[in-house]
Amino acid sequence: MNDTDYISIAALNQYAYCPHRCWRMFCAGEFADNSYTIEGTDLHQRVHTVGEGHREETWQVRAIWLKSERCKLIGKSDLIEATDGELYPVEYKRGHTGEWDNDELQVCAQALCLEEMTGQTITTGYIYYAHSHQRTKVEITAELRESAIATIQSVQNLLATGLMPKAVYSPRCKGCSLYSQCLPQAADKVGRYQEAN
Ligand code: SF4
Repeated sequence: MNDTDYISIAALNQYAYCPHRCWRMFCAGEFADNSYTIEGTDLHQRVHTVGEGHREETWQVRAIWLKSERCKLIGKSDLIEATDGELYPVEYKRGHTGEWDNDELQVCAQALCLEEMTGQTITTGYIYYAHSHQRTKVEITAELRESAIATIQSVQNLLATGLMPKAVYSPRCKGCSLYSQCLPQAADKVGRYQEAN
């Protein structure tokens, strides 16, 4: 990776979900669909129709690219809105409210890009969950910003070194489309055997 390379905001989300999954997708070039990823892709295809307009007093633009030179980030937004002059990103997700915190990180990364592109401080973002049809507010706090910056650095390091993070079995594995390639429980057992011998 060199200075001119950008990392995708989606890679941050994947890393925060599971560093090993991020390595498989962005270093090893693996991908597999399951019902969750297919549903997510369908949702984003519906959302990613470029367009600009108003919903009552709120200005909206869909599917525009966001970029940060400072953070070396790039990614496509689902929806950017402005109400009373305040801009904020809205990310669409297929699941339910509060399932995993990696979605908040993704919204924060979009806010960092939007700040650099507009010069405006972004204090809020939203996640729209398609199953519950609810928007969850994401406060762009100093803590979330720090977490996003740390994750950006981890992903940059991962892409630069190509070193594979260990697969660690967790509840997240149940929804992971790379489960059958990864076999995290077997990897855990073999790793424990190797450490003991
Ligand atoms: S199965 Fe689990 S450990 Fe393996 S890539 Fe998926 S989430 Fe990560």
